[in-house]
Order: sequence, then structure tokens, then C-alpha cells
Amino acid sequence: MSNRQWWERAQKVLPGGVNSPVRSFKSVPGDPLFFRKAAGSHFTDEDGKNYIDWCLSWGPLILGHADPDVLAAALEAMNEGASFGAPSRREVLLAEAFLARMPHFEQVRFVSSGTEAVMSAIRLARGATGRDLILKFTGCYHGHADHLLVAAGSGLATFSTPDSAGVPAGFTESTAVLPLDDVEKLEAFFAEHGDQLAALIIEPFPANAGLLIQREEFLRACRDLTAKHGALLIFDEVITGFRVGAGGAAPVLGITPDMGTYGKIIGGGFPVGAYAASNRIMANISPLGPVYQAGTLSGNPVAMAAGLATLEKTGQPGFYEELERKGAKLEAGLMKAAADQGIAASVVRQGSLFWTVFQDEAPRAVEAVDGSKMEIYGRLHRDLIERGVYLAPSGWEVGFISAAHTDRDIETTIEAVATTWKSWS
Ligand SMILES: *Cc1c(COP(=O)(O)O)cnc(C)c1O
Repeated sequence: MSNRQWWERAQKVLPGGVNSPVRSFKSVPGDPLFFRKAAGSHFTDEDGKNYIDWCLSWGPLILGHADPDVLAAALEAMNEGASFGAPSRREVLLAEAFLARMPHFEQVRFVSSGTEAVMSAIRLARGATGRDLILKFTGCYHGHADHLLVAAGSGLATFSTPDSAGVPAGFTESTAVLPLDDVEKLEAFFAEHGDQLAALIIEPFPANAGLLIQREEFLRACRDLTAKHGALLIFDEVITGFRVGAGGAAPVLGITPDMGTYGKIIGGGFPVGAYAASNRIMANISPLGPVYQAGTLSGNPVAMAAGLATLEKTGQPGFYEELERKGAKLEAGLMKAAADQGIAASVVRQGSLFWTVFQDEAPRAVEAVDGSKMEIYGRLHRDLIERGVYLAPSGWEVGFISAAHTDRDIETTIEAVATTWKSWS
């Protein structure tokens, strides 16, 4: 069966043909591809066409598809039983490996997705502080829990209306939203509401509305103001954890949060999320404390094994330096292609995260992104599919580089982009 045939069948039985909306190619021309198998930096669709994959399941696959060591670890675990619903050793091993890499935390709780990690961390922050109010930033995505589905908001601290139908307005009443990169508004918010705030949550390198790298001054203000007002600082590291460096964002930025949320890489391609904090904060979570949180498949041994194998490999000396080298090569090549073809584009990059935006300056807030240019991305996406290069199917999404991408993959991609841009003029 072809991509086309699967797509027709899928739309009959799955709403919109998908199980997660951005997969449906609503933001780019053409129909979604159906993937059959993958290895390393490549995957193959149901038409038998092969692509270099720069989306990589949206970030988990930092070692590339079907990494042999991750697969072997998962299979070994699976042979011993796929789920126990009782304590098992791999949960302890992954927790120890995690905390060794994140020494600013003392305990970690595993869940099954990033959404669940953030939702639980917010509940814990509220329970631990005895306060209700949380603060997030426009353009930061923290999963699809009801009270986090707010992003709209201009002017000072909008107490937002939900972004999604089906979320009662009351559910988002205690979620305040501010623009990124605006220290003045942040200070004004804390002056008025700081003492009611349970937590400020931010992606330390916001990577869900393009890649909006923040000024150090802004992140420093987030740290200082929360500390001053007795609120908790949560880094949502579902993307950046084990991506921007071995220890996530904190050591890169020199800013330590009170809590962190994880997902994607920590499960090595299997469904895992996690949240972490000090012993003092974690003492509030059940069974130790009054904040309830549970999960039938939490700490699943197969997923723990895959996560453990992934952390082990990313912990090898030079691992992140090599990703940085590849990132720099890709960035330089794409920037040169843009300059050569007279395309107004910037490549924004943090290590192995990259984003191509069709404007001259890298934006630091969603408000500074020219949404009308997303159409150009759509054309690029479609033309690159023809040339065997797969980017995320939306101009608002970042790209991911893995250890499996070769120099040849990078060169082929740069060439494909350059040829595409040349064909436009
Ligand atoms: C992907 C993501 C989530 C949600 O994780 P899921 O596993 O998709 O539920 C939360 N926060 C950030 C920063 C993410 O990128």
C-alpha cells in the first residue's frame, strides 16, 4: 500500500488521520507521509522513498532511529517482562543516571509523557507553596494539560482565556501569561502578584514557537524574582534536557531552577516523562506527602532501559562537542546557501537544535516572528521532500540533529536546500 492509500484509510478511522495534530501537514502543502521503517539518520516511507530525517520524532532520537544499543537494551528488558506495576531495578538505575547528570536535583519521579511531567510538576509546585497562581510565557509549550493551554496575551499579564475548546475558562484563571524577553513587564507582574505565585514555568531555550533564544538578563530576572517572592522556578526541559548539553540547560546558562520537567530524550524513543526537584520539594508528593500523582505504566521497565541506554551513550566524552560541530557545519552551510541565493533567512541554533526563519534577525519573542513568512517554509518543506530531505512539517517547529547524522547527510541537505532556493529565483 502507498502513502496515499494509507492516508485515505487513516482519515476514516483516526480524526484528521493522525494521533497528534501537527503530523497532519496542515501548515505545509501536500499530504502526510506514512513511515514504515528507519535506521540512523534516515527513514523510509510506504512508497519506498528514503529521507534524511531532521525531525527525529520531535526530539527524542538524539542517537538517531533504531540505535542498536537502545534497541538491545529495550529488548532485553522486554524479555524479562514488559510491565510489573511494582518497583523494579531499572527505575533506580535511570534515576541514579539522571541525578548524576542533574546534580542540582535530589529526586526524580518518572511518568509517561512530557505533558504528564509538567502537569504533575505544576500540581507539586502549587502543593508545596500553598499558592495557586502560575506564570508562563507566550509561545512556550508545556504540553496539553487544561490549565497550560493558554498562550495568548498582550499587554501586562493577561489572565488568559483557553487556547482550546473544551477547557472551562475557570481552569485557566490561575495561569498568567507574559511575553518573553520583557524584563519590565516581568518586574511589574512580580510587584503586583509575586507573593501569590506558586511557580514561573519557562522553556530555558524556548523551542516550540521557533527557537527563541533569550537574553541572559531575562532568565536571570526569572531566577531572581521567583527567589525573592518565594515562588518556584521550573525549567521545562522536555526538549532541552540531555539536548543542549549533558546536564540540560542549567549548566549552559549558569542558572539553576527549583524544579525541572523532562521527556523526549529521557525515554530514548519510548513514552517517558520525569520531573525533578530537591528532597524538600519532592517530600510533598505521594506517598510521602499530600500531593497526589500516580501512573499504571510509570517507570515502565522497557522505557527505562531505553532511556538508560540513551543516557549512557550521550554521556560519552565529546558527545555534545560532536553535535555542536555538526550543528555549526549545518548552520554555516545553510547561511551560505541563503546568502548565495539572495534569500532573507536566519538559522537560529543552540547546539543540535536549529530553526530556519525567513527574516534577517533572530527573534526573541513570538511577537517578533513574521508569521506571514511561514508560507515560504511550506514551499521549502515540500521541495525538500522531493529531494529526500524531511524537515518538521511546520515553520514554527525546530529541527533536531542526532549523533547518527553524518557529514555527508549535512552536505546533502545543504545542497538540496541550495538547489531548492536556486530554483525559486
Ligand atoms: C513536547 C513538549 C511537551 C509535551 O511532551 P509530550 O510528551 O508531547 O506530552 C512539554 N513541554 C515541552 C517544552 C515540549 O517540547
